[in-house]
Amino acid sequence: MSVGTAGVSFSHEDGDRLYDEPLVSGSVPGPRSAELLARQDARESSARTYPRRLQVAIAQAQGCYVEDLDGNVFIDFLNGAGSMPLGHSHPELIEAIQEQLVKFQHGLDFPTEIRDEYISMHMSMLPTEMQGRTKIGFCGPTGANAIEAALKLCKTATGRSDVVSFHGGYHGGSHGAMAVSGLVEQKAPVGGQMPGVHFFPYPYELRSPLKSNDGVSLGTRCAEYLSASLRDPIGGVPLPAAVLVEVLQGEGGVIPASTDFIRGIRAVTRELDIPLIVDEVQSGCGRTGTWFGFEQHGIIPDVIVASKAAGGLGMPVALIMYDERLDKWQAGAHTGTFRGNQVAFAAGLKFMEILQRDGILENVREMGAYALASLQEMADRSPIVAEARGTGLMLGFEMIDPLTGAPSGDAARKVQRLALDRGLIVELGGRDDAVVRLLPPLNVSRRTLDQALGILAEAVGTLVSAYSA
Ligand code: PMP
Repeated sequence: MSVGTAGVSFSHEDGDRLYDEPLVSGSVPGPRSAELLARQDARESSARTYPRRLQVAIAQAQGCYVEDLDGNVFIDFLNGAGSMPLGHSHPELIEAIQEQLVKFQHGLDFPTEIRDEYISMHMSMLPTEMQGRTKIGFCGPTGANAIEAALKLCKTATGRSDVVSFHGGYHGGSHGAMAVSGLVEQKAPVGGQMPGVHFFPYPYELRSPLKSNDGVSLGTRCAEYLSASLRDPIGGVPLPAAVLVEVLQGEGGVIPASTDFIRGIRAVTRELDIPLIVDEVQSGCGRTGTWFGFEQHGIIPDVIVASKAAGGLGMPVALIMYDERLDKWQAGAHTGTFRGNQVAFAAGLKFMEILQRDGILENVREMGAYALASLQEMADRSPIVAEARGTGLMLGFEMIDPLTGAPSGDAARKVQRLALDRGLIVELGGRDDAVVRLLPPLNVSRRTLDQALGILAEAVGTLVSAYSA
């Protein structure tokens, strides 16, 4: 079977023709996957993650579906960790890549036409207030590297050294990005973290020790807490170089911040002249139903960090876009060999063109609302699901121990496994990995969503029955 462009029509309803539905025969992993997984286990680093629980070796993929070496077909709602916004093997993106591939591939930071067009398109997607005063910087091609760049930029511009981040935040696996992430367990065995990082509460309604009361929302309380700490001369927190926030925490467990919170932290950072960095590596480029997630809160950040879907078809690109007043960098302030992948520019540009042409953002909003309502219904009738959350097509539901209400990674892992056996790949996140996370392609159809939601409902139902037996 080959994935060709001819005669395969992709609409924004994922229009997949190779695969129509998930199909799993026998146990997962099948024999051929098992063989490769064993070879991987013997040779590759223990740091590898996904195939430990999602035990498949992939042969090929198209649209929403991936096929493993044993011929099993899965709906893929892991989506290259959000880097395949129009699904796998999209023919128009492949065509754009092929066209660029034979022309010019790696351009460091020399100007090229495709780079220039890519920049123009990105700039045109920004809120009007940001246009004409925003600079773009290409980084080494990972979200983590762009976070490093954003932190360095703000440190240089302000001359300050500390950074404020939030409980549950995730910003990447490099040393600095890890230091501003909440993951205590992963940090513990790695000594010498970047100092000067201060963590503040994020408005996680289900579990926050701060409470909304007296008519004041949790978001406002969290923002007030930050504001008071930063203004307190004996609060122990020096004026930071930046406040770094995800408007919707992804790895932290799909936790959308309320507008009160985002506006509140924007207000205090403006008043105290602290650059506000929004990490849109996961939530950006259409995922939440607007081009960037921050747009839904009516704020203008100082720095935007983007990657993942920005490369259209998993092609490597990461960037920061920032207010020109912060551009105090000297030449070479943030270098990197792989800052000029022309193929990624071509794929990313084509993705943005298709997003506009095919009304993809409307699809994200519509399908997202539909899926969230369905997951919420499931949560309401299942004692082991605390709640369903998300914005656009960044969705999740939190599994709990029905007796204690504590997050249950064990239950989430079981749901993930039951879903895999039925032909659906989903990721986990949050405290104790208790949140089952869905990142469908942005052009997902109602039909594929229904297939996936059906599988999840069945998986949760099976688990409920097992608990009550
Ligand atoms: N920021 C956020 C919000 C992310 O979700 C991630 C990756 N999951 C990163 C940064 C790091 O990106 P990368 O893995 O490409 O370094």
